[in-house]
Amino acid sequence: MYVLGIDLSTSGLKAIVYSAEGGILVNSRIDYNFFTRKDEFIEQDPDLWLTGLSLCLEDIVRKLEKINDNPKNIGSIGVTSTSGTLVFVDEQGNPLHSAIMYNDGRCKSDSERWKAITGSNGKRYEAIFGCVDNDKARYLINRLAVRYKIPYIDGGTSPSGGNVAVYIPSKNRCVDCQFNLKESAKEAVEKEGCTNNPNPSIIIPNLIIGSAMVAEFVNIFSGAPQLLERTFKHDTYSRDKVYTQPTLLISQCGLGCT
Ligand SMILES: [Zn+2]
Repeated sequence: MYVLGIDLSTSGLKAIVYSAEGGILVNSRIDYNFFTRKDEFIEQDPDLWLTGLSLCLEDIVRKLEKINDNPKNIGSIGVTSTSGTLVFVDEQGNPLHSAIMYNDGRCKSDSERWKAITGSNGKRYEAIFGCVDNDKARYLINRLAVRYKIPYIDGGTSPSGGNVAVYIPSKNRCVDCQFNLKESAKEAVEKEGCTNNPNPSIIIPNLIIGSAMVAEFVNIFSGAPQLLERTFKHDTYSRDKVYTQPTLLISQCGLGCT
């Protein structure tokens, strides 16, 4: 029994027939080129793949017959292809657009923007202070902090209080794990914008929470043994006014923060 290997690669389609012992019996290759619509666009016509496959298989059959072998001896087929390539298809599977290849560069400006913010290795900043109430923005900041292993000091206030939570890489779990930002970010999309936010920030909670955030920064970088492993809370209407409470790990963020 023979094995047919098919490789749909960036530059062409290759097919090889192996004997049971691993020897190459026949092979075929059809080259095709990607094309660009703009400098950074790298696209390929999916029809090229099917045409290439059909030409390759016809060639394989022809070559097997030429050495007096029977294509029916092929008992198994293995297929590999390029990864991360995007093809939009209709209900019947027909391509609606040229394939956007894995090495397409149209999001380069976004990655350049991230690099400008984080530095090429993400180490431009020693810590991130997050003072945003929008959970979608907090989710993105947290993701950046986890990705580049930057301590993230997250603070938020309401008219009567606020809280501080910290993420210290390799010491504790991230802010998404603590507050499940991913879930609340979905709701934030509907609420975002000042006109939908009925609670303006006021001075005293901002002062208290801001001071606590700065204190955490000092603690982290002065090597203080007592790191904030609990959530710092301020509540005007509570008896204690300021207190800490255990951090609830309510989410598995999936970002690999631990
Ligand atoms: Zn996490």
